[in-house]
Amino acid sequence: MSGEEFRRIGHRMIDWIADYWSRVESFPVLSQVKPEEILSNLPANPPEHAESGAWDAIFRDLESVILPGITHWQSPNFFAYFPANSSGPGVLAELLSAGLGVQGMLWATSPACTELETRMLDWMGGMIGLPGTFLSTSPRGGGVIEGTASEATLVAMIAARERAFGAMGGEEPPLSSRTRTSPPRGAGERGRADGGRAELVVYTSTQAHSSVIKAAMITGIARGPDDRERVRLIDVDDRLGMRADLLEEAMNQDRAAGRVPFFVCATVGTTGTTAIDPVDEIAASMGRAGAGAAGAPWLHVDAAHAGAVCVCPEFRGMLRGVESADSFAFNPHKWLLTNFDCNCFWTRDRAAIVNALSITPEYLRNAATETGKVIDYRDWQIPLGRRFRALKLWFVIRHYGVEGLRAYIREHVRLAEVFESLVRSDPRFEIVVARTMNLVCFRWKGEGEESDRINKDLMQRLNLSGDIYLTHTVLPKVAEARSGARHPLAGRLVLRMAIGAAATQERHVRAAWERIVGAAPNARS
Ligand code: PLP
Repeated sequence: MSGEEFRRIGHRMIDWIADYWSRVESFPVLSQVKPEEILSNLPANPPEHAESGAWDAIFRDLESVILPGITHWQSPNFFAYFPANSSGPGVLAELLSAGLGVQGMLWATSPACTELETRMLDWMGGMIGLPGTFLSTSPRGGGVIEGTASEATLVAMIAARERAFGAMGGEEPPLSSRTRTSPPRGAGERGRADGGRAELVVYTSTQAHSSVIKAAMITGIARGPDDRERVRLIDVDDRLGMRADLLEEAMNQDRAAGRVPFFVCATVGTTGTTAIDPVDEIAASMGRAGAGAAGAPWLHVDAAHAGAVCVCPEFRGMLRGVESADSFAFNPHKWLLTNFDCNCFWTRDRAAIVNALSITPEYLRNAATETGKVIDYRDWQIPLGRRFRALKLWFVIRHYGVEGLRAYIREHVRLAEVFESLVRSDPRFEIVVARTMNLVCFRWKGEGEESDRINKDLMQRLNLSGDIYLTHTVLPKVAEARSGARHPLAGRLVLRMAIGAAATQERHVRAAWERIVGAAPNARS
């Protein structure tokens, strides 16, 4: 493609995207296609030769083949899961990243890619109120962009495992080992030789994201998704936050049985209901449970969705105790106007991450790395290669400003309040858990499984209509709430209204409520 042609088609593509955003409301939010419908409209074989008029055909196919198979995450009527924000500055940064075509595995392979990332993580850490010990300006901490929250949890777990093995081998991992080529003597060996992998235990709440269990599966700690011996799911209280007293009990029991607690994942803003685990109480319980043979367990905080709300100081109470965590991660690619993928991951112990993940074959050796003065982010992640994702944060933060981002978040929280008050005003519906930010969990009132069926039908009707898109969760069977009472709706299906698409305005939220009421059982009969 010549430069001239790129310029011409590129302008046309930007126009197409801008037009898409302006008409996104006109599409059914949830794609209405059947399985293989898109496949059947795509040729089985690639073109042998360049197509003449290829770009006209491609633009036509975008309309007729691709758009029908799109679920419109950028629609103002998208209220499912959590948002996956896109924005002008985010898209332009993606474009620039592709245009520069930088692969920033080493500092030397593009110093700007590394150093902009370091600065952005320091900016973002400050923006959400993380303690200075997580920033690159501290002696031991620092941040990095991972692809997703799942990867961040996996990286933290790998570092924790290595740290535990190191401690069990009687040797602390060296602090500065950016150029190390082999694991520290003793690290890993003892644990592996005496079956240490199988002894290690992960703790998280029943409400944690499945990525915690998946990380335990990938690291070889869990023997499958249902291994409750090596991944202990701690019960929650009536607000659905982890019970720190039960965590302490479980750790003590495991130690007494010869197992090795090594990793705790607290969730700030759970996937189901945005419940907040009490990080301060969890850290205190971990402190009381003591260090054990593998040293103190690693505390990771997964704030995948909720991290964004902490740009507003009034929400930072949910981070109480974070100064005791070993690592913290959140996804600007959810609710902070930054296109997927962008997970910000910080640690107070960068040496533990590098010790666990660094390996230096000859072809990666270079003078800058040898000085020990530069960061090679390949040592902070699973893959070797990495894109120039920091551009997205740079553009987004500079375009909106921190105050602009706060206003954006506060508006969605206000819209969630509006929606909540609409639900409360209708006696046929109920709010089922305390709202902590932009997610409203509600349901059509009713008892037992029949009420689950009614709520599920209601959701499916709404989603099939294409007017709005909602998803559901099931409330956990809280064994013993703090109040001493079981949550009255334990085990019941509830609807989730997550308000966080960039285009959503109050009129969309009010219209969504009208649609919900209109599709509700009484309205049909
Ligand atoms: N953790 C929490 C609390 C989440 O809500 C989610 C997704 O919604 C994830 C992790 C997984 O996020 P990712 O897709 O970035 O791995």
